Amino acid sequence: MVKVTIDRPGCISCESCWTLCPDVFKQNPNDDLSEVVEQYQVDGNPAEGEVPDNLADCILEAADSCPVTVIVVED
Ligand code: SF4
Repeated sequence: MVKVTIDRPGCISCESCWTLCPDVFKQNPNDDLSEVVEQYQVDGNPAEGEVPDNLADCILEAADSCPVTVIVVED
């Protein structure tokens, strides 16, 4: 299991994470910021996810691509 958090207030909606890793990240329709897809949210928190290991590479790629480095990954 991979833990991922998004410091959502710092997101600038560059679209990189949800383009590279749409299985884990999506754009919130209300505030346009990145969030974890509902399936992997922890306690309904859009900023926190627990994601299966097979998606680790995709999450890391998305985190590396974030221009404001607001995606933090722990495994
Ligand atoms: S890559 Fe970073 S700035 Fe871009 S949408 Fe995702 S969280 Fe926001």
